[in-house]
Amino acid sequence: MSELIDSFQRRISYVRISVTDRCDFRCVYCMSEDMTFLPRNQVLTIEELTQVARAFVALGVEKIRLTGGEPLVRRNIDQLVRDIGSLEGLKDFAMTTNGAQLNRYAESLYQGGMSRLNISLDSLDTERFKRLTRTGDLNRVLDGIQAAKKAGFERIKLNAVILKGRNDDEVVDLVDFARSEEIDISFIEEMPLGNISDHGREETYCSSDEVQAMIEARYPLFASTESSLGPARYFRMADSHTRIGFISPHSHNFCDSCNRVRVTAEGRLLLCLGNEHSVDLREVLRQYPGEMEPLKQRIRDAMSLKPHRHYFTTDGDVQIVRFMNMTGG
Ligand code: SAM
Ligand code: SF4
Repeated sequence: MSELIDSFQRRISYVRISVTDRCDFRCVYCMSEDMTFLPRNQVLTIEELTQVARAFVALGVEKIRLTGGEPLVRRNIDQLVRDIGSLEGLKDFAMTTNGAQLNRYAESLYQGGMSRLNISLDSLDTERFKRLTRTGDLNRVLDGIQAAKKAGFERIKLNAVILKGRNDDEVVDLVDFARSEEIDISFIEEMPLGNISDHGREETYCSSDEVQAMIEARYPLFASTESSLGPARYFRMADSHTRIGFISPHSHNFCDSCNRVRVTAEGRLLLCLGNEHSVDLREVLRQYPGEMEPLKQRIRDAMSLKPHRHYFTTDGDVQIVRFMNMTGG
């Protein structure tokens, strides 16, 4: 059991590690068109990332998710997955990806010990997909989803960020797609992370309750008791194995049961997605290369900094200057 317990008696059992801030997409809600990325020497090396994962698992963390940026643009990602996948004590190993390179990587991720994948998909319309991602090719992502299914992943879940006036008319189509592929789908409320140029977030905010109502007009939903050890609330339909999740950082605060922390690509341990509280792990990694105890101690000490909750507003104010690609979703 995790020995990481914060001041509010929440036990930290889950770490999301961002392996790069770079990405081959420029999704309108996540990035601005012109992004400046970190110089490479400021990003943790594959060895350092493995050491971070090893330290957390040694402290009792059971679940790790790799994210980014786009994890599949990180060189040697398959090696990192193998190294982390073989850590004793790790029970749940997952990745969040835009799916564009899964055709190439799905098999090696699965063989490396990863059991679950979240694949982002906000539209099933080629033109619209391009507009939302600025550079993405829908067909590559659809091929990636097939490759993931073929590789044998235990669970595949789609993630869709719904923006009013952009893709809210596709909610039921996305559910139908998930049903036909027999995979799960979660709908995410847009979060005010980073200054984006594409739209005012207050105009596009679409609450989970609105999305749920659109689905229920077609498919009655039954609350499910299943949990993913995360903030999603899950529902089922009578005639399908597909589960529908809602991640609602605005409308349904989930901080009281928060069990997670995040590590950014530059090795900052972030105690909360919606706050700036953090400690620098890279400094310890580089001061004591290969040593576990100083790293573990810094992680233990950081727990007292975890804030009680986040405060997001829907009025378009940016409270957090970090972009989502810095942090990982
Ligand atoms: N590149 C990968 C991907 O897109 O799945 C992993 C990183 S991405 C930052 C992780 C998740 O965060 C994606 O599902 C994305 O849709 C979501 N996301 C990005 N910016 C967001 C924002 N401002 N509000 C809510 N979700 C966001
Ligand atoms: Fe890239 Fe993922 Fe952000 Fe889209 S949401 S720009 S795919 S990191």
